[in-house]
Amino acid sequence: MVSEDLRKLDQLICNWLNIVDDILPQLIEEMHTDTKKDRFDLVTNVDKQIQDHFQAFLKTELPTHQLLAEEKNNDDIQPYEGHLWIMDPIDGTANLVKQQEDYCIILGYFVDGAPQLSYIYDYPHGKLYKAIAGEGAYVNQSPLLPPPTLSIADAILSFNPHVLNDETIKDLFQSSFSYRIIGSCGLDSIRVIKGQFGAHINTNPKPWDIAAQFLFAKELGLKMTGLDGGEVDFGQGGPFIISNPGCHKEVLEIMNKGRGYQK
Ligand code: NAP
Ligand code: CA
Ligand code: CA
Repeated sequence: MVSEDLRKLDQLICNWLNIVDDILPQLIEEMHTDTKKDRFDLVTNVDKQIQDHFQAFLKTELPTHQLLAEEKNNDDIQPYEGHLWIMDPIDGTANLVKQQEDYCIILGYFVDGAPQLSYIYDYPHGKLYKAIAGEGAYVNQSPLLPPPTLSIADAILSFNPHVLNDETIKDLFQSSFSYRIIGSCGLDSIRVIKGQFGAHINTNPKPWDIAAQFLFAKELGLKMTGLDGGEVDFGQGGPFIISNPGCHKEVLEIMNKGRGYQK
């Protein structure tokens, strides 16, 4: 049974996402790009302004809620206590900059460490994916069903080849049906959630890359684990796979054979 409070909160977030629809076109039109660690590590005014807008919204509407997010300092955040939002304001920033497509906003809401609400907003395609604890998952207003079971031989797998060893990549290619990568951890995960991909791997995600996936996996019977098969700590991030239950074991066996992967 979903509490009235959770429904109200969901409505509040959906209202905020409607505001995003109004402000994003202008932000994108005025987009300017900076680099962070290196020339491949991009951030734009869009990332920062979306996050600032959400932070201001929380301060007004839900002042006791904490925000752990990519483009801010999170030193004072206590992720396992109270009400916590984790946000990636733009996941797939390189796609936003280079293609103006295949990026999303990721939001996860946790209470005392338990996921309660999740959102992956695919703005360019007008699709809001959401999960509500105890109720299930939706794309816009339509319920999402658990995807059919996929064996590894029938599955498309998604991973970043830069960080896997050659033998591991070869084994994954040979064992699966094929390989695709969207370039957004949130949207690659959505392909698994919808049953289009068998699995998505990221060997070094931060909490905001994977914040929403926990609840989708729980509500739809998917596997979301570390690459050692153990639990992923939502407050820390770390090597992760979200997988169709039909190929999780086989993919992990390959990942852990030989020299495996780097972070
Ligand atoms: P990209 O297009 O920049 O990003 C693809 C996805 O990975 C996005 O969701 C992105 O989130 C996230 N991401 C960005 N940097 C990451 C990092 N250092 N570790 C893990 N995830 C990251 O990816 P790319 O152009 O292929 O690679 C850019 C850099 O990120 C390279 O150094 C690459 O090795 C690394 N990366 C590593 C992994 C991994 O599995 N370890 C996965 C992807 C990228 P944002 O858009 O929010 O930044
Ligand atoms: Ca990200
Ligand atoms: Ca980001």
